Amino acid sequence: MKTCQASVEHTQPEGARVPERSDLVGRALAGDRSGSLLEQDVDEELRRQMLSYGYRHDPQTGLLNRQGFQGSLGELLQQQEEGDEVALIWIDLINLRREFFLWGWDGIDALVGHVASTLQDVVGSDALLGRCTGHSFQIAVPAAKFDREARNRIQSMIDALSPLLVRGTEIKLETAAGVAFFPSDTESAEELVRFASMAAMRGRVLKSNAVLAFQAGMNSLIVRDHQLEVEMTKGFDRGLVSLVYQPKIDLNSGMVLGVEALLRWKHPEWGVVAPSEFIPIAERSDLIQRVFDFSLEGALRDTRRWMELGIAPPVISVNASAANVRREDFLGRVRRFLKELPIAPIVLELEVTESLLFDDEEVFTTRMRQLREIGVRIAIDDFGTRYTGFNLLKQLPLETMKIDQCFIRGIHLSPDMRALCNTIVAMARQMRLRTVAEGIEEQGELEAMRQAGCEAGQGFLFQHPVTSEEFVDFLREWPARIPSFGFVSPCAPRDAEPLCGMA
Ligand code: C2E
Ligand code: MG
Ligand code: MG
Repeated sequence: MKTCQASVEHTQPEGARVPERSDLVGRALAGDRSGSLLEQDVDEELRRQMLSYGYRHDPQTGLLNRQGFQGSLGELLQQQEEGDEVALIWIDLINLRREFFLWGWDGIDALVGHVASTLQDVVGSDALLGRCTGHSFQIAVPAAKFDREARNRIQSMIDALSPLLVRGTEIKLETAAGVAFFPSDTESAEELVRFASMAAMRGRVLKSNAVLAFQAGMNSLIVRDHQLEVEMTKGFDRGLVSLVYQPKIDLNSGMVLGVEALLRWKHPEWGVVAPSEFIPIAERSDLIQRVFDFSLEGALRDTRRWMELGIAPPVISVNASAANVRREDFLGRVRRFLKELPIAPIVLELEVTESLLFDDEEVFTTRMRQLREIGVRIAIDDFGTRYTGFNLLKQLPLETMKIDQCFIRGIHLSPDMRALCNTIVAMARQMRLRTVAEGIEEQGELEAMRQAGCEAGQGFLFQHPVTSEEFVDFLREWPARIPSFGFVSPCAPRDAEPLCGMA
């Protein structure tokens, strides 16, 4: 197998490498003023060389840039003989932005420089190393796809990157890495790089620390995700996205305590696409801002419409993703919509999952406080699907805890589950949180949650999510349905507190 030696010269750090001087420039520097040599020619030649160097190299690390790497990789693959194999590794640096917040540009330069030199140390002299984008590095090394030792060597290259000691500070670098092999995955240099980057992207989605090998299916998964994103944008533009509403019921009185707005997207060919499919994809792009704006504005608009029909507004709950809450203008957006319609902030509740807590506890806490200050309520959604210590929850200005359906399903048939839910509800009570049981489908589940002391419930047993108009019908018909659920103290909607039911 031929190695990548031919291109090794490109892998030295910039400081160690100056473009070679041509005879013309060399003679000029040596003071040769003879013949037709003009200063202008020298300038011209130097500039040409600098430009050509700059065209192929990343100025920050001196590594090959996209053009340089792709060109050298193409040459390298052409030189391979029958039976030779090359592994192309793509490494994404994920938390550069966080490091930037912490250390500024200087810190980022130092960090990226360290990654470049660490990789140079570990990849060996027969590797081709490049920096094709600002937050990614590429390595081409001789390695066979099914050789376990080669795979271990590749993994150790990635493992060498964390923790990294930069200016005396230990940094835990988050990376996602993928690998594709020549010629088994593809014989094209361009595809090899692309396939490795797809594998890295998949690794990022799966939050995998391992170097993920490219698989043919990844191609279609990523294409599908992209297609879904494009189609969803069209869906918004063409008015194919709408909201449906599902009530939250007081488990003692049967009163309607609130209503949750849920997004629906009807694709002209695919039919209804479930939020569980498109929300994670929207969350990986800017589309999630559109999702939030649409849901918040739509839900508040419908609330206003219900009020105009003489219905006292139930607390309206809107789901917010971590990516929404993290944005600087999050609070401003919420305020603006409330003011425009106008709707009193106390009528609005935002449901947020625990995931943000793991990302950035400080941002989350600040945002929650800001929301509470203006009067908006906050609920923790899907509680129990991630582990958030009660201690942490105690510090947050929360109003409500929504217990995930996985604890509710079949609770009446399982003493263990019942004991667990009793504890969750008791802990929540101690923290002065209201509890809502999600996904109640059976009367037995309703009874068990009521006995556990859970205040409210939501689920198909009471009502599937319905359109805004159907929700008005539901509110009208609900009082007559209340007795069938055996509520302990059924109350007419007129007796309800002002935020519930019909006015
Ligand atoms: P979620 O916020 O926990 O919403 C509750 C989900 O449970 C809804 O699914 C609802 O239709 C479903 N559900 C309600 N009762 C029952 C029941 O008795 N049995 C079963 N099996 N399911 C029940 P949906 O509408 O498919 O939404 C799924 C998730 O998508 C939501 O979970 C929420 O996390 C997300 N989502 C929906 N709309 C939005 C939105 O506008 N913005 C954001 N960021 N996320 C949204
Ligand atoms: Mg929710
Ligand atoms: Mg939920």
